Amino acid sequence: MGKVLIWIVIVFAVLFVLRLVNAQKAKRRHDQRANAPTQTMVRCVHCGVFVPRADAKPGPAGLTCGDPACLSR
Ligand SMILES: [Zn+2]
Repeated sequence: MGKVLIWIVIVFAVLFVLRLVNAQKAKRRHDQRANAPTQTMVRCVHCGVFVPRADAKPGPAGLTCGDPACLSR
């Protein structure tokens, strides 16, 4: 009977540790998502497509999507 009790305690201890590890992983994932930089989207002045600000190309009339047809106008 004592052995069974010890095994039950061991199983619960292992489950508890696994739960802690999973909680840490989930927290890390959540933190990474929270710290990810948000990208500002800008609208192409010619075709109206939204592109990330980093990918937008400055054209004569304003920011464009980088398409040659939009850049030249
Ligand atoms: Zn465009």
